[in-house]
Amino acid sequence: MADYVFAPPPPVALPVEGQAALYPVRRVLCVGRNYAAHRREMGGDDRDPPFFFAKPADALVAPGANPAYPPATANLHHEIELVVALKGGGADLAPDAALGLVYGYAVGVDLTRRDLQNAAKDKGQPWDASKGFDQSAPISAIRPWSGPPPQGRIRLAVNGAVRQDAVVADMIWNVAEVIAEASRLWRLAAGDLIFTGTPEGVGPLAAGDRVEGEVEGVGALAFTVAA
Ligand code: MN
Repeated sequence: MADYVFAPPPPVALPVEGQAALYPVRRVLCVGRNYAAHRREMGGDDRDPPFFFAKPADALVAPGANPAYPPATANLHHEIELVVALKGGGADLAPDAALGLVYGYAVGVDLTRRDLQNAAKDKGQPWDASKGFDQSAPISAIRPWSGPPPQGRIRLAVNGAVRQDAVVADMIWNVAEVIAEASRLWRLAAGDLIFTGTPEGVGPLAAGDRVEGEVEGVGALAFTVAA
């Protein structure tokens, strides 16, 4: 066993529905602007395809835990998303082959410092501080899955008021295409999560807000934004 100059951090892992073993996370990719109505509300051009960014694996917030309201923002936004969890990988995958790599699905929220993101866009700077901050990715347990991907409703409510309400079938890149597109840019592997983008209705959160999200057939998550 290797010797380390200090104790390495524990592996990031998520619960799996129906079994005791955990799902070990390797990395977290995210799709931007994968629903047309959200692309419009962000001021995007209808001709621009979706794209990728990333969050560190340790940004995940396990089910039942409450993320803190982050520092350095006055405009924290919620983005409810279907999350794909891979059990295998590769590069340059065909969409037909991609679905065979899916271990399961989860419900995630891509928390975003919208003010820092807008400033980064204006200056042509990277999004890491606006997207990949600590505790920026609350997520549900993973539901193991076989067969066609989820297509149903995706919803998020804040303090009981529905803010986002759409259907996963409206994604511009479907799940198979998301995996295939990602594999053109990275060699994917078991343990990779992909947040597949959010529908319209994103908006601000305040400390103390109760957030409840669900994807039909996949599961639900709930958390309170801690002070
Ligand atoms: Mn997002």
